[in-house]
Amino acid sequence: MTIRRLAAAWCGALLLAIPGLAPAQVPNPEFAEVTAKLDSGGTFYLYTDLEGFLTQIIDEMSPIFEASDQKELALVIPIARSAVQALGLDGLDDLGMSTLPLDAGTARNKTYLRLDPRSGLFNLLGATEPRDLEGLALIPQDAVLAAVENLNLDAILTFLEKGAREVAGGAGEGAVRQALKTIEETHGLNLKDVFASLGDEVGLYARLDAQTSVTLGEDEKTMSIPRPSAALFVRVKNATLFETVIEWLKKSGAEIEKLDGLTNAKGYELSVPENPMKFAPAIAATDKWLIIATDRAEIEAALAAVAKGDLRSSAEFKAARRDLPAKVNGIGYQSPRLTEELVKLLDAVIPEVPDAAARRMFSQVRDKARASAAPAGTISVRVNDPNGFLWITLTGREAASPTKPVVAGVAAGGVLVAVALPAFQKALEESKARVCQENLSKIDGAKQQWALDHKMGKSAEPDWDDLLEDGKYLKEKPECPAGGEYELNAVGESPTCSLGEENEAHRLPE
Ligand SMILES: [Zn+2]
Repeated sequence: MTIRRLAAAWCGALLLAIPGLAPAQVPNPEFAEVTAKLDSGGTFYLYTDLEGFLTQIIDEMSPIFEASDQKELALVIPIARSAVQALGLDGLDDLGMSTLPLDAGTARNKTYLRLDPRSGLFNLLGATEPRDLEGLALIPQDAVLAAVENLNLDAILTFLEKGAREVAGGAGEGAVRQALKTIEETHGLNLKDVFASLGDEVGLYARLDAQTSVTLGEDEKTMSIPRPSAALFVRVKNATLFETVIEWLKKSGAEIEKLDGLTNAKGYELSVPENPMKFAPAIAATDKWLIIATDRAEIEAALAAVAKGDLRSSAEFKAARRDLPAKVNGIGYQSPRLTEELVKLLDAVIPEVPDAAARRMFSQVRDKARASAAPAGTISVRVNDPNGFLWITLTGREAASPTKPVVAGVAAGGVLVAVALPAFQKALEESKARVCQENLSKIDGAKQQWALDHKMGKSAEPDWDDLLEDGKYLKEKPECPAGGEYELNAVGESPTCSLGEENEAHRLPE
């Protein structure tokens, strides 16, 4: 290993500096194993030793919680410990990441997570070796969005029961059992049989029909978009799930009609009120798959893909996939056609949005969607091995910034990332501003009380010591969560946050 790699690894460890996580002084034996999975020489490179870090964080937190005068808080620690174990998070061993710019606006992100042992939640993430994903056979060639994941679906219920037992003992296990019993009694659904009948793959795809457009909006403000349609499919061992769903639909009074003429499948169509997307949900079963789709045509498209050639034979998909391995445990794909349509739609929507802040948010979503999509399409695969998981994502180069490689590596579609990030950021900023305003009004209250007690006029200016003395007016000096500085000001004026100069949300309302 070169000095450069080591130096980069150290920077990575510093980036992830979490209190209580002391980087090892020498690279541990897994260093070479993890870094061998990554691309060196790119714009981002990270190796970090995660071994025991969650347990360490809990150990650090434990005295803080125990010292609290709220006794319930002390219970959090043992529950957190059991949850970490039940989820298998105590097996997190090493993390490696890299970003390598490729040609033509595309970058390759790799994220490798090493586990020792692989347990809990991670056991649900499919086989320990990569394979040919059979679900790809159901995806039509013109899909704009597709995903297939190898998951141990039949183990989910056992995992939940075991987790409940580990976290809450016999009471937890009993609660899960009771919930299953209640569901069976009230809805006639035997979830135990249903889960046991599930196989190890789940997938979905979406298509856009350029020939049929649907009109959205009312009055003069309408727009036409290509009609979207989608299907979700699950690998099954037998017909239990299909029969259970049909039985349940019949019992709940839904109007269903048998679909005739499906090739090697049986199915039903659900009648729903007329809707702008022209959806008429349908469900079908073959001997291997349960398919739920937006309409009968989509069931037929999936069955036709099996018979006449699927996504893997489309030139567009081949170009996006490049030299990614054929045997994988998960795959997510987003066609450049989807990004185009999304950008077109947002271009039409944005001028109509009355609120400036919302307009800015929509514009950000559009720009992120554009930047995060690789010209040939965004694609992500997961490759399992006995010790861990490797995610490889080909994204747009602008999306491959070091600040969000985890999101880019884990999320299948650029759209998801583009939608989630600004929304999350906005929510975070709003909540910080709310806390700031609460602080300001608390400070103001303290000032008024101080003025009253000391018979001070409107022009008097208290200082922090006046308000904090013996915790009489303020128990502690409030801090703006967004990093602003508070100014007390005179009794007759409002206290201010330094961020309030630019940002109304950090000001006390008049
Ligand atoms: Zn503030």
